[in-house]
Amino acid sequence: MKFSKDIFYGIRDKKIIEVIESIPREVFVPENLEGSAYLDSALPIGFDQTISQPSLVAYMTQLLKLTGKENVLEIGTGSGYQTALLAKLTKKVYTIEIIEELQERAKRTLNELGMDNVFYKLGNGYDGWEEYAPFDRIIVTAAPPKIPSKLLKQMVNNGRMVVPVGGQNQFQVLKLVVKTGRGFLEKDTHYVRFVPMVE
Ligand code: SAH
Repeated sequence: MKFSKDIFYGIRDKKIIEVIESIPREVFVPENLEGSAYLDSALPIGFDQTISQPSLVAYMTQLLKLTGKENVLEIGTGSGYQTALLAKLTKKVYTIEIIEELQERAKRTLNELGMDNVFYKLGNGYDGWEEYAPFDRIIVTAAPPKIPSKLLKQMVNNGRMVVPVGGQNQFQVLKLVVKTGRGFLEKDTHYVRFVPMVE
């Protein structure tokens, strides 16, 4: 095991831990930081963006409750690390990134790892991906000031969305949103720090 076991405290889904251990995190971080790839730290990936710490990636993934059959929309491809986990835990991943260079790099990395169930879109995540909607699950890895309404519209019934909400100079709250027959249920889980979801 490359990560310390402690960082998965609170992760009950053993499959998630197995998958995390099967993905080399060092290929998602800049060369000079490879030595830090197995720390439980967020790391810079260029363009003022960061790859989240593995414990948080695991926690957000657990909140999605994946069974292997879902179509998942991810906003903020970044390094592609979260994408890789999703690709191994579900059927199809639709991932949107706004910075072209990051998208290209993530695509290369994920192709090299043989992940062929990932579909990439360069664009603004606030619009979602109408063509493939609705999605069973949505995960947002940059923080919008409030839950983007178009994303809510692109969820199936009983669908789940995980999204960090809040500005840069305040606490952001990691929210779990579940769409029910009677509307949306919102649950606040943790305080977190994400880069902004740009408008
Ligand atoms: N999940 C990523 C972390 C990404 S950091 C990983 O595992 O590495 C957040 C990413 O969201 C950045 O790459 C940033 O460019 C992207 N982003 C920010 N605003 C966005 C928007 N409106 N639409 C799509 N992507 C956005």
